[in-house]
Amino acid sequence: MANLGEFEFIAQLLQGPAAEGQPFYRHPLALGIGDDAALIPPLGPQEQLAVASDMLIEGRHYLADCDPRSLGHKVLAVNLSDLAAMGARPLAFTLSAGLREIRRPWIESFLDGMLSLARESQCPLVGGDTTAVGAQASEVFSVTVLGVVRVGTALRRDGLQPGDDLWVSGHLGDAAFALNQGIDDSKLNAPQPRLVLGLGLVGLASAAIDISDGLQSELMHLLNAAQRRAAQPQCLQANVNWQELPLGPLIRQAALAGRLTPSQAAGLAITGGDEYELLFAAAPRERARIEALGPQLGLALTRIGSVEFSDTPGVRWRDAAEAQPPESLQDMITRGGFRHF
Ligand code: ADP
Ligand code: MG
Repeated sequence: MANLGEFEFIAQLLQGPAAEGQPFYRHPLALGIGDDAALIPPLGPQEQLAVASDMLIEGRHYLADCDPRSLGHKVLAVNLSDLAAMGARPLAFTLSAGLREIRRPWIESFLDGMLSLARESQCPLVGGDTTAVGAQASEVFSVTVLGVVRVGTALRRDGLQPGDDLWVSGHLGDAAFALNQGIDDSKLNAPQPRLVLGLGLVGLASAAIDISDGLQSELMHLLNAAQRRAAQPQCLQANVNWQELPLGPLIRQAALAGRLTPSQAAGLAITGGDEYELLFAAAPRERARIEALGPQLGLALTRIGSVEFSDTPGVRWRDAAEAQPPESLQDMITRGGFRHF
């Protein structure tokens, strides 16, 4: 039979794929799928919970005919990326699904993608909800992740300080380019949440955020959060050299081949969403330690600019000669990246 009923589906989850390889399920106080609620083993005395939720809606965040394995990976990856940006270690997650029908090969691939990443990240599926939506309705997947941080050490957006350096992990622009060009790219289909980096930045970074809506937009979130938290009103400016952004291999190639102008390539890196890299801030005295962390993790960490007091708050994009970006790039930045509404 091609379709599963709700209870068959839950029974299938209970048979083991959620528990497989997960130390959580061996803890005597842990309880996963199958009861009215999951039970999380006690945390350490100096630990607190970090909680994040993200939802993917058919037709809005993904297409109906997309690869289910990649979708399963992605719905968990975007949530783990939020934990990474807080410097939290994954603990467990729940999955709520609104489905028109539970088609067997499709849902098995979806779970395979999701649970492979769950195993790699030691983040077990411990519960959720499964509901039928109308025959014409969009399907929807919502994940809630739980993570753990040592009390007071989480990487908050509002920790940004004037004088801080700004850094990004990995490279930017390829996810947006791949989406636009219909290219099958791992950056788009299988983003890797930067969990190990997030943990490594605890005690080093003053603030962090993951890049889901585009670098420009995330820079503004950091600045706004710091401004909201400041006791005195303060005007903060992020000063970033657009020519020195770490561009993804796809757009670097396209720029070399003349298919993208340097401005267009930078525009993709600045406004492109779905990156799931970390943007973080750190005091200049931490430069050497951050530079050592990159090779240790096999992940490029690039210093892209700094934060300063200024009469003109916001992001100042400039080149090495302090000149403004060309008008075509300025236009792209003003039009902005991905908007949800
Ligand atoms: P209840 O009626 O108490 O909400 P359900 O029938 O919805 O119970 O769920 C039964 C069990 O199956 C619960 O432990 C729930 O967490 C789990 N479950 C249901 N749907 C999912 C899902 N999509 N992913 C993981 N666990 C699920
Ligand atoms: Mg339920």
